[in-house]
Amino acid sequence: MDKKDTEYFKQLLLELLKDSYDQLRDSSKELNENIIESSGEVSSNPFHLADIGTDVMEREKAFMIASMDSDEIFEINHALEKIDKSEFGYCEQCNHEISKERLEAVPYARLCLPCKAKEENK
Ligand SMILES: [Zn+2]
Repeated sequence: MDKKDTEYFKQLLLELLKDSYDQLRDSSKELNENIIESSGEVSSNPFHLADIGTDVMEREKAFMIASMDSDEIFEINHALEKIDKSEFGYCEQCNHEISKERLEAVPYARLCLPCKAKEENK
């Protein structure tokens, strides 16, 4: 991986990071609105238990999305650190170069495809 490629993937990662932060902000905003809405509903309609049930599910969904995004942010930051240490583009398992096609799809991939496949078959 030469300097030009590294710079290219760095830009990709920075864009992804920005997107993830935006998504995270949106989902936590939605989450807050849901909580405010549902708590308002609970006090004014104490007998609508079915509604409360859906709200809880919605809230859990929003939490799940939020935690998924922060995982992604963690992985992106990890990849950016690897760029700084000139370790970017190498598999953390076998130290072989990760193919560019794979990095195009998942710029923050830690493992090459064969290692990833092994990991998933465990
Ligand atoms: Zn590998």
